[in-house]
Amino acid sequence: MLKAFGYAAQQSTRRLEPFHFERAEAGAGEIEIEVLFCGVCHSDIHQVKDEWSNTVYPCVPGHEVVGRVRKLGSGAARHRVGDLVGVGCMMDSCRQCAPCKAGEQNYCEGPNSWLATYNGPMVPAEKAPGERNVYGRDNTFGGYSDVLVVPEDFALKIPAGLRPEVAAPILCAGATTYSPLKHWGVKAGQRVGVIGFGGLGDMAAKLAKAMGAQVTIFTRTEAKLAEAKRLGVDAVLGSDLKALAALKASFDLLLSTVPERHDVNPFIPLLKRDCTLVIVGALEPMAPVNQQEVAFHRKSVTGSLIASLAETQEVLDFCAEHRIGPDVQIIGIDEIDEAYDKVERGEVRFRYVIDLASLKAQRE
Ligand code: NDP
Ligand code: ZN
Repeated sequence: MLKAFGYAAQQSTRRLEPFHFERAEAGAGEIEIEVLFCGVCHSDIHQVKDEWSNTVYPCVPGHEVVGRVRKLGSGAARHRVGDLVGVGCMMDSCRQCAPCKAGEQNYCEGPNSWLATYNGPMVPAEKAPGERNVYGRDNTFGGYSDVLVVPEDFALKIPAGLRPEVAAPILCAGATTYSPLKHWGVKAGQRVGVIGFGGLGDMAAKLAKAMGAQVTIFTRTEAKLAEAKRLGVDAVLGSDLKALAALKASFDLLLSTVPERHDVNPFIPLLKRDCTLVIVGALEPMAPVNQQEVAFHRKSVTGSLIASLAETQEVLDFCAEHRIGPDVQIIGIDEIDEAYDKVERGEVRFRYVIDLASLKAQRE
């Protein structure tokens, strides 16, 4: 076994604390990665606080991981020792079901769905940890730690030209917003709206703009209007009903990144006929949708979950090619509590990224 060290939540009500644990050594087709940077996603906070009612404790979060390959398991040949690689939300999938065979591992229909990089079993908390999942693991521990072991095909290549700390948030925030932009075929000249200007919103706006779309950010925070302008995109206060009315039937795609239950009805009239509002933020029951507004113009309100491995590699390469990336603020692991508070208050600009070198000072 490998000795590992990271930060974990021991209960939903507790803050993250230093945590010593063990990982299985890299087996056949797996690689061992020295973790360098890990982004702080709002999902980490939902999970640590058990807001999705499925957290298994101790919980070591982190699914925006960039590190260096340190060791190859037997037969692993996709990466070389010393390569920079990234691991996003998934570290395995069933590999047998139709979505997996079609390369859409993020929609895996296996008995335990895809295996999450942390809190992996995805079974209700009351069943864990006694009940083992089909991957033969009780739980998985993520990137707020010094070392990670994953199947080599679930590690993405970090393209030259992307700094590791900038690449990290692309593995979830970038991938989760790229996938729907691509799936719904965003093209140059189209109009895309992004609701909620946080970590995902920042990437959604930059990616849609790089695809040639005209982008508008809808924010509840006045101070962010100027920050959107700095990105070269329009911005509107979501509460400004007059401004919303002026935008009626003008958008080809809307993407909501708001992290909790919210009312999307004020935004549906902004869609053109046949167009779609994709909710990627909230993963919980939402306020009922005004079916009249949807039916009269054959609009869709739908959702989307992270991204496939191929899309995740694509968005990394796309960001390198277009020289875009998240606005990051680097923190030490000891600053994580304060970072969580700021994310929850909407104060992050726009993604905290943990420098895991800071763990060294913490290790006993
Ligand atoms: P952030 O907290 O960084 O950004 C969310 C933004 O939404 C805030 O900055 C704020 O922007 C706005 N906002 C927050 N609360 C409210 C509210 N109550 N009403 C209206 N607007 C609000 O979060 P992330 O971008 O990291 O993540 C967003 C959500 O996406 C999370 O819930 C996360 O779990 C989820 N997620 C989903 C994935 C999927 O696969 N579907 C994958 C990854 C994340 P502003 O100040 O501009 O209003
Ligand atoms: Zn995430």
